[in-house]
Amino acid sequence: MNLHDPILVLGAGESGVGSALLAKALGARAFVSDAGQGKGPGVDELKAEGIEHEIGGHRPEKWPDAELVVKSPGIPDTAEVVAACKTRGCEVISDIEYASRIHQAVGHNNPVVAVTGANGKTTTTSMIEHMLRHEGWDVDCAGNIGTSWSRRLAQRLAHGTGQAEATVLEVSSFQLDGTSTFCPDIALLLNITPDHLDRYGYDMAQYAASKWRITASQTEACHLIYNADCEWTGRMLQERGTRAILHPLTAQRTLEEVAKAGRGGGLDSQDNSQFILQHFKPFTMTIQKLAMQGKHNLFNSMAAGMTGRILELRKEGIRESLQSFEGVEHRLEFVAEINGITFINDSKATNVNSVWYALECTEGPVIWIAGGIDKGNDYSTLVPLVRDKVKHMICMGKNNSLLHAAFDDLVESSHDVTSAEEAVTLAYQLGMPGETALLSPACASFDLFGSYEHRGRAFKSAVRAL
Ligand code: ADP
Repeated sequence: MNLHDPILVLGAGESGVGSALLAKALGARAFVSDAGQGKGPGVDELKAEGIEHEIGGHRPEKWPDAELVVKSPGIPDTAEVVAACKTRGCEVISDIEYASRIHQAVGHNNPVVAVTGANGKTTTTSMIEHMLRHEGWDVDCAGNIGTSWSRRLAQRLAHGTGQAEATVLEVSSFQLDGTSTFCPDIALLLNITPDHLDRYGYDMAQYAASKWRITASQTEACHLIYNADCEWTGRMLQERGTRAILHPLTAQRTLEEVAKAGRGGGLDSQDNSQFILQHFKPFTMTIQKLAMQGKHNLFNSMAAGMTGRILELRKEGIRESLQSFEGVEHRLEFVAEINGITFINDSKATNVNSVWYALECTEGPVIWIAGGIDKGNDYSTLVPLVRDKVKHMICMGKNNSLLHAAFDDLVESSHDVTSAEEAVTLAYQLGMPGETALLSPACASFDLFGSYEHRGRAFKSAVRAL
């Protein structure tokens, strides 16, 4: 691609502004079009940077003659404006694809690590970043996790700071949908379980195909770290395949059971208090020493550890960093213990699978605070855990009928509330010493809150106010 080609950017959020800044850093023209009212810091930044933009609608007559359109992941493919761009003959890509093309075009050749999955992306991405920094690497950590990759690249180009030693990206399925040449050196596909099905026509196959794009352009020199226990991943591997070197991981079975499929990782059959990663030489670590406990975090730690092995980090460095990782806010975050009741903030659990893991690793009895906007949930997998561990269910949403229908018969009592304060006060009244009040909603937050962060913070401040 020609670095000076103009681009049209759809959406003035972080990915859109980042892409426009990258174009600007390359000396290319960027025009940002956003149908919203231009609230938020994005538009202010565009103004400050002198980047052409429009808000409150799309007016194609004002657009530059761009062949490339960078679409924000929040805008669905079915949006009218996307069709209009395609009719003009434009190629519509995501910000990750744009950054990846520029990364290559400017000659950056640092290893790119990309993490995707329905759950565990932010945790695992942060673990890998922590590990590389612990070993003294200059890392760009970007993508769905906060700062866009484009912005990171723009900063490096604008300030002449040279390239990073590694790029670690969290990528969502929406970002992957807009990729065609994106080729991470190391791809991590943590799991494919139902999420965002409302955007994928309620079709798991479509969602799985979107996740599989992470490996679609990989070559024989690349690595794919994946979950050997995930049914949909197995199906995609069989149906679509990949050219990458395979690293199957299991947090439930022994290494021997997955070793045939590649350079894998699993429990040690001789000593089940430790796990082994087999990439050339074996790497072992005691599970108890991991900073992040629970089966899902054992998996995430193994995935991060395997990345460290592939990047040839010191074994001791990998162990030290998996031991010292502090976790990420709103993911099974301990808030306080009050009168013997433990309060846990897992506001980021916005789908059924993440709640499954939260309940799995929480000692009962649990006072479960759930609810919000249901994204097409099938609650059946939670039934055994709720029956075993949940004593009271507090539904915090505008419409809680699906939760009541699924669980009312399994719990001692169920309740409706419409604020975090009410939920916390009620949990406190219902709770007994030794019990856990767990906010793990299985739903999006937008009916009562601005975001899952807002929901988590409201929960934490209500707990602290008790
Ligand atoms: P993502 O970035 O993919 O949304 P996070 O790391 O933010 O993932 O975690 C989201 C939720 O999923 C949290 O509730 C967390 O405890 C849970 N979780 C983390 N890792 C996993 C995993 N490997 N499998 C299932 N759930 C997980």
